Amino acid sequence: MNSPFKYSDDNKRYYTFNYYLRHRFGKKVFKVSLDMGCGCPNRDGTKGVGGCIYCSEKRSGDFAGNPAEDIALQFEKIRNMELKKWDDAYYIAYFQAGTNTYGDFDKIKTAFERAVRFENVVGLSVATRADCIDQRFADLFYELSKGRYLTVELGLQTVHDRTARLINRCHSFEDFLKGYKLLQDRGINVCVHIINGLPGETKEMMLETVRQVGLLRPHSVKLHLLHILKNTPLAALYEKEPFHVFSLEEYASLICDQLEILPEDTVIQRITGDGAKSDLIAPLWSLKKFCVMNEIDKEMLRRNTVQGRLFAIGK
Ligand code: SF4
Repeated sequence: MNSPFKYSDDNKRYYTFNYYLRHRFGKKVFKVSLDMGCGCPNRDGTKGVGGCIYCSEKRSGDFAGNPAEDIALQFEKIRNMELKKWDDAYYIAYFQAGTNTYGDFDKIKTAFERAVRFENVVGLSVATRADCIDQRFADLFYELSKGRYLTVELGLQTVHDRTARLINRCHSFEDFLKGYKLLQDRGINVCVHIINGLPGETKEMMLETVRQVGLLRPHSVKLHLLHILKNTPLAALYEKEPFHVFSLEEYASLICDQLEILPEDTVIQRITGDGAKSDLIAPLWSLKKFCVMNEIDKEMLRRNTVQGRLFAIGK
């Protein structure tokens, strides 16, 4: 199928992660979410207490393995489930829950080194906070990235420090940039995670976040939709002082605006949220992920636009 967009061979007008993986590895690649039980400095008092106000009890790793089990067993269990759907695939070991560069360095290093040797694993993804990256980790990632796919996911969420304080993020944009630079200087691929719909943010603020992220030229981004999950401080805030939650149409329009101002070669790992169904309070339309993706595709087509069309204009 002819596509008006350089990095697409279907109806997508943005650079999907699926396209990237297919062209890099030549076959289906699954992420296997492993949990080695890393804590978070924003929960244990080192940086803050209570965590980011939207963070779930599973430390934002709702689909990960069981941290009480060894990561090899977690991997086998999840891979066996995937094998039923796809018997010839590669895997990316994905450490998502908690802050995976926080804790005993040698223990974490061993976990990464083991995970990349599991059968058919072609890469490693590590989610963490930028203020928990130091030179040792940057060097470790450099070593681990030799000859394999490796991405470090840094949660930024917003470039606006006022919002960062409100959501109890406990780091500033400047702190983020320091960690980002350590990785960038080592040539590590970074995936920047942002959240749309944070309380108090206007559309212009959300666009500004993406504009600034685009200028950093990250390997990839995750554009998340704020999910209000049960038993979080965010849910309590929403109940006490309800704030505006996107409609599907508003969200699709915002995502298209953001795709237009990102560079065309930034891989889009996500364009919506992925919370556990049983815990989601709002927005409930986000459970229909296929409809959300469809709405975004339709809006890109209606505008006859593509990712990157407005990158760096008016920076
Ligand atoms: S930094 Fe991550 S794991 Fe820690 S509280 Fe925030 S979202 Fe949760």
